[in-house]
Amino acid sequence: MAETMEFKAELKQLLHIIAHSLYTHREIFLRELISNASDAIHKVRYDALSHADRLQGDTDWKIRIIPDVDAGTLTISDNGIGMSRQEVIDNLGTVAQSGTKAFLEAMKAAGKGTEALGLIGQFGVGFYSSFMVADRVTVRTRRVDQTEAVCWSSDGQGTYTIESCEKPQRGTDVILHLKDDAKEFLDPVRLRELIRKYSNFIEFPVILITESTTDGQKKITEEIVNQRQAIWLRRKNEVTQQEYEEFYKALTHDTEPPAEIIHYAAEGKHEFKVLAFIPAAKPLGYDWREPQCGLRLYVQRVLIMERCDKVLPFYLRFVEGVVDCSELPLNVSREQIQEHPLLETIQKSVVKSVLDALAYMKSTQYDKYVRFYKNYGSILKEGLAKDWNNRDKIADLLLFESIQTEAGKYLSLEQYVEKMPAGQEAIYYLLGDSAEAMRQSPHVEAFRAKGYDVLLLTDAVDAFVLPYLSQYRGKRLLPADRVDSLPDGEVSWEERDRFAALISFVKDQVPEVAEVRLSRRLTDSAACLVHDQHALPVHMRRLLERLGEQPAAEKRILELNPQHPAVTALHQLHQRTPNDPRAADYARLLYEQALLAEGSPLPDPPGFLRRLNALIARDAHQNVTS
Ligand code: ADP
Repeated sequence: MAETMEFKAELKQLLHIIAHSLYTHREIFLRELISNASDAIHKVRYDALSHADRLQGDTDWKIRIIPDVDAGTLTISDNGIGMSRQEVIDNLGTVAQSGTKAFLEAMKAAGKGTEALGLIGQFGVGFYSSFMVADRVTVRTRRVDQTEAVCWSSDGQGTYTIESCEKPQRGTDVILHLKDDAKEFLDPVRLRELIRKYSNFIEFPVILITESTTDGQKKITEEIVNQRQAIWLRRKNEVTQQEYEEFYKALTHDTEPPAEIIHYAAEGKHEFKVLAFIPAAKPLGYDWREPQCGLRLYVQRVLIMERCDKVLPFYLRFVEGVVDCSELPLNVSREQIQEHPLLETIQKSVVKSVLDALAYMKSTQYDKYVRFYKNYGSILKEGLAKDWNNRDKIADLLLFESIQTEAGKYLSLEQYVEKMPAGQEAIYYLLGDSAEAMRQSPHVEAFRAKGYDVLLLTDAVDAFVLPYLSQYRGKRLLPADRVDSLPDGEVSWEERDRFAALISFVKDQVPEVAEVRLSRRLTDSAACLVHDQHALPVHMRRLLERLGEQPAAEKRILELNPQHPAVTALHQLHQRTPNDPRAADYARLLYEQALLAEGSPLPDPPGFLRRLNALIARDAHQNVTS
């Protein structure tokens, strides 16, 4: 008796989207099913490492594609691991895969345009893509360690049936009852084209089985369609650029060629082969997808892990590729392999070659590098905090905007240091949300006057990782808004004396700050806020607050420009009439403008407006009456 069951609600929605809005992309169903078949064979090979007897001598791995014109069906058949009844229910009846939810969200964001069409390729919605071409899908499967076979069937409309059935060999047959408008997928020419286009690098033979009739005689032809070369095992000079690119696209589903290809065989004490790629483009939705890190790990051509993160540090998670190491033991569990010390050696080697490749790209193909950096620079930077041994190399790869660069142009630390004028001892930077706003900030005025450049750090991770880079080529990195960042910011005794009363008056009016002092850093602005050596930079504080943290309150220092007309006028007013009620308002206005200038929110906007309006009213009134 067949049982009838319901799909999960979310899945219904997904099926609907797949079946209706992605019509022109529907040919990818074949890639998805072949890739599932290949995964299943990889799995059974891995299983056989500990249970060779289960294979019962059948190690002739193959994926068969069988069009049946009379029945109107296309069957994809494999001798892989198969599925148990429970696995069929879990895998084909629920939204078990991680990609589905993210896919749904992306679909909603992308709407129905061409972007949406590109998405399905990037996400690989897997098995359900069969409903783009079939109005009924039947799956017959038997797991390698079981005698019972199961038959699953659905029209993709919300329910499916499941029952026991006969199946002499292990593995899975996916039988697609093609829709009337999808009969093109019975045509051997079309099938050959699709297999070569999408599945050329599948390592097991993809065999197209066709039937022809000559002189009333039926003839069955079996033909291996894919190339199935493990190109990473070949020598670099034997692989063409086109083969690399096709392999990369097959591996990642990226539509663009990679920015850089890294292919080498390590020899000597340990031998392993690496084929890694640095992507040029960033897939849509990359930033909100669960981050994935790792290379495909093969041991003696058996795929051990889809993503082995031990061979790739997390800050290089944009790298894609394969590592093949025949020295690793095959007869141990994945967990034990993960712990194998050789993986660390491999990681060191991979890191070195990736960082070298990036440095090479930066010096020889700068524009390409800039594009890479815009896509993945903020991930790469995490390495400053994580990879002490390679910090200098990573620092060389960084790019920044600065107060001297044009908008959208970048500067490296090396370029910064090279053009430092005589007398400049440190590298200065400012953290903030917008480079444009920071170029106007009072904090950079004195630097600009001296001809010193200031790096403008706008990336959210900068505040967290830059402190790990305390120096570059012997030059300290200092925040420009730190109180002691300018060595000659001192004010004369005479001036300090003259302003002493005003300073203490302003301090009383602005209890929010730890100290008020005169400044040499300002040329055009009247006031700014700086922090002392040990304080949390203001940008970092705002970030933490946005993340829901409450960093301990720290008072900052209010600096006043003794040359500024507003400050000198307040000075005179306070000297003449220390109790003038206006002076208190003006003192607060100086503090408030310092907050505004650095992009910080005002603590009391209505109060600020009242003070400002009173000022306008008085000034305008005076002008009318005088
Ligand atoms: P994904 O392959 O991304 O996990 P799919 O929807 O394509 O998503 O498949 C869901 C699951 O069903 C797979 O992870 C796998 O466990 C199982 N599966 C699909 N096809 C096969 C097959 N031919 N043989 C064995 N298991 C399969």
